[in-house]
Amino acid sequence: MSQVRGNLFILSAPSGAGKSSLINALLQQHSDMQVSVSHTTRAPRPGEQNAKHYHFVSEAEFKTLIDNDDFFEWAQVFDNYYGTSKAAIEQQLANGIDVFLDIDWQGARQVRELAPDVTTIFILPPSKAELENRLTNRGQDSADVIAGRMAKAQSETSHFDEYDYLVVNDDFDTALAEIETIVKAKRLSISAQRVKHNELIHDLLK
Ligand code: GDP
Ligand code: ADP
Ligand code: 5GP
Repeated sequence: MSQVRGNLFILSAPSGAGKSSLINALLQQHSDMQVSVSHTTRAPRPGEQNAKHYHFVSEAEFKTLIDNDDFFEWAQVFDNYYGTSKAAIEQQLANGIDVFLDIDWQGARQVRELAPDVTTIFILPPSKAELENRLTNRGQDSADVIAGRMAKAQSETSHFDEYDYLVVNDDFDTALAEIETIVKAKRLSISAQRVKHNELIHDLLK
C-alpha cells in the first residue's frame, strides 16, 4: 500500500456552536488526526496556552508573517486577525495525518481555491437561545464580546451552503459520530483509495 497524503477538513460555525469541543473529542479518539494551530492577534482566554490553542502574536508580528508569505490563509474575524500558517499543516499532511482547520467562512473560501480536495463541514447550534447559553456558560468572554459574537452568528451562518456537509450540534455524541462518518467516507473516496490501493488496482487491471 502506498503512503496516502492526509486529508484536509474545515470546520466552521458561529462562535460557541461547539467546533473546538468537537475537534478535541475527535483528536482524543484518533491518533491519526491533528488540528492546525492558528496564529491570532486576539488575547489568550483564561487557560489558553500559546502554541497549543493558538500562536498568540502581535499585529506587527502577524503582518510580518503575511509579508513573508508564511500563511496558507488568513482573515480578519471580529476585530482580530487569524491565520493558518503553511507550517501548521504541511508536515502532517505529508505524513498521512488528517488535519482539521477550525476557521471562518472567509478562510474556507481561500482554502477551497488552494486545495479543491478539502472537505468542508458547517456546524449549527440547535437554536439561537442555546448558542447564547453556550457562549455564556463557557464563561470565557465578557458580556460585550458575547453580544458581538451573537450579532456575528447570523452572518457566519448565512454561508452554510458553501460547505459540503451540515452537522447540528444538539446532542454532542451524535454530532461527533456524524463528523466521524464524514471522515470515514472521505478516507474511502476514490481520490484517497486509488493512491492507497494503487498496486492492487494496477494488478487487477493488467
Ligand atoms: P470560537 O469561535 O469561540 O472558537 O472563537 P475563536 O476566537 O477561537 O475563533 C474566532 C474566529 O476565527 C472563528 O470564526 C474561527 O473559525 C476563526 N479562525 C480561527 N482560526 C482561524 C484561522 O487560522 N484562519 C481563519 N481564516 N479563521 C480562523
Ligand atoms: P466554538 O469552538 O464553536 O466557539 P466551543 O467548543 O468552545 O465552541 O463550545 C462552546 C461551549 O458549548 C463550551 O462550553 C462547550 O462545552 C459547550 N458545548 C459544546 N457542544 C455542546 C453540546 N452538544 N451540548 C451542550 N454544550 C455544548
Ligand atoms: P475565537 O476567538 O473564539 O478562538 O475564534 C473566533 C473565530 O475565528 C472562530 O470562528 C474560528 O473558527 C476563527 N478562526 C480561528 N482561527 C482561524 C484561522 O486561522 N483562520 C481563520 N480564517 N479563522 C480562524
